[in-house]
Amino acid sequence: MKLKIAIQKSGRLYDDSVKLLKECGIDFNNSMNKLRTEASNFPLEILYLRDDDIPQYVADKVAATGIVGENVIAEKKKKVKVVQQLGFGKCRLSIAVPKDKTYAGARGLNGMRIATSYANILSAYLKKNKIKAEIHEISGSVEIAPGIGLADAICDLVSSGSTLFSNGLKEAATVMESQAALIANPRLNRQEQEILTKLIFRMKAVRKAKKNKYILLNAPDKNLNKILTLIPGMKSPTILPLAEKGWCSVHSVIMEEEFWDVIEKLKDYGAQGILVVPIEKMVI
Ligand code: ATP
Ligand code: ZN
Repeated sequence: MKLKIAIQKSGRLYDDSVKLLKECGIDFNNSMNKLRTEASNFPLEILYLRDDDIPQYVADKVAATGIVGENVIAEKKKKVKVVQQLGFGKCRLSIAVPKDKTYAGARGLNGMRIATSYANILSAYLKKNKIKAEIHEISGSVEIAPGIGLADAICDLVSSGSTLFSNGLKEAATVMESQAALIANPRLNRQEQEILTKLIFRMKAVRKAKKNKYILLNAPDKNLNKILTLIPGMKSPTILPLAEKGWCSVHSVIMEEEFWDVIEKLKDYGAQGILVVPIEKMVI
């Protein structure tokens, strides 16, 4: 029995999806022109598909699971379970208007023609904000619609905003934040569920590791307690005596986002030789 997972065949999610599976210790051949491949050391079969098709294939159980953007999950409205956010493919679905137009809040969209590939999400947003606008559904190159007179505004994915800018548009409002997520068919059999549980366990360990760093430092005994409260670690830090009297070596784990703050304070308490190293996997 193998678990089938659908990932994007090529595009913005491809590299990170492959990387995540490989970081989970799963070996497979990912030459670009393949449609499917089997992992050599884990009961997983990988199907390469267009991202838009992934929710449907997972709902139909052609693939038991898949990796796809939350934007696509929300738009397709298929019967799939969102198992876990994956932290990559971050973007937002935004309303954009021509640069020279003032944006008078969501209400200012009343009566406008808005071009989008996300008609379902946009229509829910308009309804929620009690806006009556006309949705023009187009499947690609949405950003050129205002320039060619097809629409007054667009609703499209943005990450840096540079595509908007080069098309004479500016971002006006965020409709939805998105990132890649692992989805699954809600009716997996027992074996599939077992493999999925293993996969999720590994994905969590990889994600957790990315958010944390291993820290080693030399601490003067007199400030040891203060230093330990700054880096409490997973269970508690490891403390080893140094050959030099009055000093010890402390090993612990810190969150990446707290890193600079903590380092400053550690230095104030006299910590020396601070090393911060990446963690590959982390299981608590
Ligand atoms: P496919 O050929 O598979 O249909 P696509 O052209 O629809 O690909 P991509 O542009 O590769 O899709 O984007 C795939 C997903 O990457 C998006 O649905 C979204 O979740 C995510 N993404 C992240 N940043 C961006 C961005 N700046 N623009 C568009 N999508 C982004
Ligand atoms: Zn697509």
